Order: sequence, then C-alpha cells, then structure tokens
Amino acid sequence: MTLARSRAIKRALDRVRKDCDQIARRGSDPVSMVHRYTTHHDQEIVALVASSVAFGNVKAILAKLEDALARLGPSPAATADDQLGTFAAMHGWFHRVYRGEDIARLVIGARRVQRASGSLGARFAADLDAAGDLKEGLARFCDALREAGGFARSTTKRRGPMHLLPDPRAGSANKRLFLFLRWMIRPADGVDLGLWPQIDPSVLLVPVDTHIHKLAQNLGLCTRKDVSFKTSEEITFHLRKFDAADPVKYDFSLCHMGMLQRCPSRRDEARCEGCGVKPVCRHWAPRA
Ligand code: SF4
Repeated sequence: MTLARSRAIKRALDRVRKDCDQIARRGSDPVSMVHRYTTHHDQEIVALVASSVAFGNVKAILAKLEDALARLGPSPAATADDQLGTFAAMHGWFHRVYRGEDIARLVIGARRVQRASGSLGARFAADLDAAGDLKEGLARFCDALREAGGFARSTTKRRGPMHLLPDPRAGSANKRLFLFLRWMIRPADGVDLGLWPQIDPSVLLVPVDTHIHKLAQNLGLCTRKDVSFKTSEEITFHLRKFDAADPVKYDFSLCHMGMLQRCPSRRDEARCEGCGVKPVCRHWAPRA
C-alpha cells in the first residue's frame, strides 16, 4: 500500500469515527448493558456475558441479555457467589446454542477467577505476561474460566459451552473475545470502559465478523478469504499504521456505520450512497 493511499484511508476512518455519535449509538449495542453497573466486578462479569452472546440479530441479543441480567439481579457478581442460586436463576433461559446453565457456569467461573486473582483484569494481565503473546495469553485466560466454571466436568455434548468460550489456540476469529478485550482495555471513551489500564491497548486485535471482513477487503486492508485469527492479525497490522498505540479505536464507529450490514461489495449508486469509506473503497477507485 502506498503512503498516499494509507493516508487517504486514515483520513476516511478518522472522519467516520468523528461523525459517529458514540453515546447515541451505544444504546443499540450490547456494551450499553455494561454501563448500567457501577462496580468493577459487576462490569467485568456483565461484559463477559454480553460479549459472549453478541452474535446474530442485535434486537434478539439485547432482549436475551435483558432477561439474563434481570435473572442475575442487581449484582451479578454477588449472585454468582451462590452457585445453586445462579443455576436456578438461569434455568429456562436460552439464546441460539446457549442454555441458561452455560451462562451460569460462565458467571460462576468468572466470579471464582475474580476471587482468586482479585479481578478478571489481573488474571488476564498475568496470563498475557506469562504467555508473552495475545493468543496464548487469551487461551490460558479462557482455560481458567472454563476450569473455574466447571465446563470441563460437564458431560453435555451441546455446542453451546464451547461456543461460549472458544479456544483461541484453534485459530478461529474469536470475535466475541476480542470484543470483550476491547471493552475492558481501551481507554474509557463513553463506549469502551478502560477497566484494565495495566494492559496496553496496542496488543488488541480487531474483532472481525463477515461485515468487517468485507469492509477490510474493500479498503485493501485484508487479502485473506477466511474469517480467522490470522484475518484479525492482518487487518490490525494495517490499522496499526493509522494508530500504533490504539489500533482498534475505529472498530465501534465502523460497526455502527449505517451501511456496513448492507454493503454490496460492488459499485452500486444507491446502496453506496453516504458510505463513509466510499472515497477509499476499491469499487469506487477512478477507472482507467
Ligand atoms: S462504498 Fe459501497 S461497496 Fe464500498 S464499502 Fe461502502 S457500501 Fe461497501
């Protein structure tokens, strides 16, 4: 990528970010649930739950989260101290591949890790430090949550538990785990919470789903055809050229760009109208 093109993309992304009314958009994002809580422990646990179920239709996600959090009471961390009470509270809840017992194990596991390490942030920082890289650090953190939540001892053959806490070593995209890390580690800006200031935001990888993948391809930030850990690494490699200290700062505004979900990935006058990255989209490059 030439320096001129790189600068043009940065200008477009900065404009998209500046034009995004983050606080207004936050209300339609699962991160809004985390902002309802005031204690560090509750915010960590709610963020883990909210990011873990954040896939599919956003209205359905928000409705299911409302239900789950109502069941977990005003302090999910305090509720999680009562194991049987947590399983009872979540009984009958479901969302796609998840069942209430999966969420119960997740919050019980997270609470046990908080009690053992002081906070989820302290545990993740220690895992990251010991592992020396994000993939293995995150994998160890997930191992700890799974172990503490009793996922390993569960005999269920359902897909839900593994989907809830995937193993980053497998190389999948880990979109929801990267989203959780973004919320916790990026400095507080009204959306992300900056709860883990001991961790440098430059280590973060951008959460990638099919929409961000397509957008990155249209901007020339990605050549990979799959949506995987390596894809996040490739896109973040380019984003670091725009801000090495905080490469994933564009993620929220790009995800909330109106046309992201309906990007046609071709030159389409009507559907591309108003797209914030149109000036640098490969489909709109001047034709020879
Ligand atoms: S200009 Fe059109 S094709 Fe390009 S990213 Fe925007 S919506 Fe997609």
